[in-house]
Amino acid sequence: MQQHLQHPIFGILANVADQQQTKAFVIGGFVRDLFLSRPSKDIDIVVVGNGISFAEKTGEKLGAKVAVFKNFGTAMLRYNELEIEFVGARKESYRSNSRKPIVENGTLEDDQLRRDFTINALALSLNQENFGQLIDPFNGISDLEHKIIRTPLAPDLTFSDDPLRMMRAIRFATQLGFKIAEDAINAIKSQKNRISIVSKERITDELNKIILAKTPSVGFNYLFDTGLLHLIFPQMTALYGVEIVKGKGHKDNFYHTLQVLDNISLHTDDLWLRWAAILHDIAKPATKRFEEGHGWTFHGHEDRGARMVPQIFAQLKLPLNEKMKFVQKLVQLHLRPIVLAQEKVTDSAVRRLLFEAGEEIDSLMMLCNADVTTKNEYKIKKYRNNFELVKQKLKDVEERDQLRNWQPPITGNDIMLTFGLAAGKEVGILKNAIREAILEGEIKNNYEEAFNYMLEKAKDLGFTPIGN
Ligand code: ATP
Repeated sequence: MQQHLQHPIFGILANVADQQQTKAFVIGGFVRDLFLSRPSKDIDIVVVGNGISFAEKTGEKLGAKVAVFKNFGTAMLRYNELEIEFVGARKESYRSNSRKPIVENGTLEDDQLRRDFTINALALSLNQENFGQLIDPFNGISDLEHKIIRTPLAPDLTFSDDPLRMMRAIRFATQLGFKIAEDAINAIKSQKNRISIVSKERITDELNKIILAKTPSVGFNYLFDTGLLHLIFPQMTALYGVEIVKGKGHKDNFYHTLQVLDNISLHTDDLWLRWAAILHDIAKPATKRFEEGHGWTFHGHEDRGARMVPQIFAQLKLPLNEKMKFVQKLVQLHLRPIVLAQEKVTDSAVRRLLFEAGEEIDSLMMLCNADVTTKNEYKIKKYRNNFELVKQKLKDVEERDQLRNWQPPITGNDIMLTFGLAAGKEVGILKNAIREAILEGEIKNNYEEAFNYMLEKAKDLGFTPIGN
């Protein structure tokens, strides 16, 4: 195993271990990632003894500053690109109402037993006599080879002790493309209500990692099948299912949403664009109607969905800032490009979309493209053709009218100065009229045409420019 610990830092740590006559090990995620050939910059060191004084000795040798967290008995230092954390080996016992264990000093084995998964409990020795030796009491290497997430202890106990581990199991399965062992899945099903003692921020942190994985649907399927999703994000599970009236069904919007999420994930790593995919149809259950002679409709689900976004963000402790506004805008506008594709596309409709989407137009088009999940070859072809047509139209109109990041050619201030008006309703009326005229294509998007249009409009309203 020595070849795994090539980095000079491990030689230095080995020196400290021998000088301090202390047993020390690299443990956890770093070791797992070594065997998976995933580069990792976070190194966890467990010391059978005092982790803080071990860190301080290492810091002296490296000339690096050590951050000490006395309350946690841990210390951290940075060395070039690496972040190294030190902790004394510990034994943990849990109470039922808290994720925080009672901690005592322990052996390496105690420390490995408190780890969440067998693949996260691997340790490599740093002492001279057995440098690089793998200590793998729970067959973690075999689980890595078989791509299995398994707990070192009975899974019911592992998940009940710290229910965040249920989210972590699903997150690792999604990130690594692993399966969760059958008994662990059953334990999540039976312990799922324990998730209530985990903070919303922690849950969402894991959820976001699932969303950022290559194929996020893997995680959402686990969350759904175990019943966790119903507890942490019920609005999403409401998308599930097909209702049939008079022989007519609609598509299952849960699986459609997952498909859209996977589709968009092929094209972007942007968390918020992926969230827009998750939320684009979120109001379909609330707007669903069966209309005689027509079938299933979801009228207004884009408006209603956009209105649901702030509440969902607040509930999940996602940021209530411009990221939320971005998601809201995409949910609101997600049908618009498709509508342009279905009708005869007029310039003014294209201009309106460009104006409303602004900087977000490319993200919106990406979402719209990902939203095509039909398996019908003929329909796919038709959509793609129309989509290209809309894209071309957008490009043409944009080049001509430059509506992205549109700034009105005549500002409110211009209007006030021209007519000697104070800020008020009239200024707004004129500003809107100019914008509408530009969007409708009655005038061009430039100062001169806008100014002349403003004079005409003002005449109708009975204002005269100062000096006339
Ligand atoms: P990543 O960096 O991708 O999140 P990681 O495994 O390094 O992966 P950390 O959260 O940094 O994740 O945890 C480091 C190690 O600490 C884990 O490998 C695991 O051994 C242990 N660990 C972390 N959280 C828990 C937990 N809730 N229960 C038990 N062990 C945990």
